[in-house]
Amino acid sequence: MIGIEPVVKLLSDLVAIPSVNPCFDDGNGEKEIADFVAEYARKVGLEVHRQTVLEGRENVVVGILGSGDETILLETHMDTVTAKGMTIEPFKPEIKDGKLFGRGACDAKASLAAMLQALVEVANRGTPKCTVWLAAVVDEENGFNGAQKLLSSGLNAHYAIVGEPTSLNIVIAHKGTVRGKIVTKGISAHSSQPEKGSNAINHMAKVILALERYDAELRVRQHPLVGSPTLTVTMISGGSGANLVPEFCQITVDRRTLPNEDPMAAWDELKRFLQSQPDLLDLNFEFAEPDLVNWGMEVSADSLPAKRLIYACEKFGIAPQLLGVRYASDASVLMQGGIPSVLFGPGSIDQAHTSNEWVEIEQVVAAQKVFEALIEG
Ligand SMILES: [Zn+2]
Repeated sequence: MIGIEPVVKLLSDLVAIPSVNPCFDDGNGEKEIADFVAEYARKVGLEVHRQTVLEGRENVVVGILGSGDETILLETHMDTVTAKGMTIEPFKPEIKDGKLFGRGACDAKASLAAMLQALVEVANRGTPKCTVWLAAVVDEENGFNGAQKLLSSGLNAHYAIVGEPTSLNIVIAHKGTVRGKIVTKGISAHSSQPEKGSNAINHMAKVILALERYDAELRVRQHPLVGSPTLTVTMISGGSGANLVPEFCQITVDRRTLPNEDPMAAWDELKRFLQSQPDLLDLNFEFAEPDLVNWGMEVSADSLPAKRLIYACEKFGIAPQLLGVRYASDASVLMQGGIPSVLFGPGSIDQAHTSNEWVEIEQVVAAQKVFEALIEG
């Protein structure tokens, strides 16, 4: 690794440390990578703080105090999705054709490397204009617990950049999610005498057709950056025997919300829709409390994070697009805490979570320069 940029060496070292989210079978967690990030920062004299989020899982927050009033939060995650099913060596990073391959190379260790190396370079040059905190958090790929802990610790900033693979574009809006279960109840009977029972699976079939009608209604609503809200039935289970009329059926529904749509209000609207359908009036169906509630997020093109990033990008001849995306991120958590946030980072979301995950090295180097310019004002 002689002769390569420090940020590429750093990214390679980060990829070589497995940090699969423990929600996956092969998940070892973020302990080892958190230790590495803390030590890397400590060696150059950055301030280092650690926050326990879940057992054995800590956010690492490193920073430099600046001479001016503005505080920037650079936030990204240390965890990755599973390495199972990968067609390349997940934790033996390989550099080929200007790309670095490995699990997490793109999502989101490329952002972490660019942010951390930017802080190191800035610290080496003295006191910057802005105070900057880099928060490397745990658990983005599952429950956003790391970002929530960061917020509840009282950390504040004038704006935040959330490191995710955006191909060096600026994401100013994304959707949210509300996900929960719907249950239909019937009456069990022997299937030789089905007239004595009431079939919960047949009832659910009607509910699912109604949900299809509801999804069609949702598609009419349009947001200029993220398109329409959607509703997908993602799981189904029911019945207890091959010769029994089923008394129970359950589906999981995933409703993607528009950036400023209240996810709980969306869930209530879904309830009201089903309750008002004439063909469902005599059915017995129930809603559980949602399992997952995530807000979307949106800031304007002239918000502080967008303006500052555009300015920093332009110094290097990068003309970022302002985009909306459909996936969720830690940015919505930070926004709920009152910190205007955008997403920005090297690598494309097309390579995130893939079996041969990679990132273009040129983008990682460029991102580091942009972060340096951002901090130095
Ligand atoms: Zn990510």
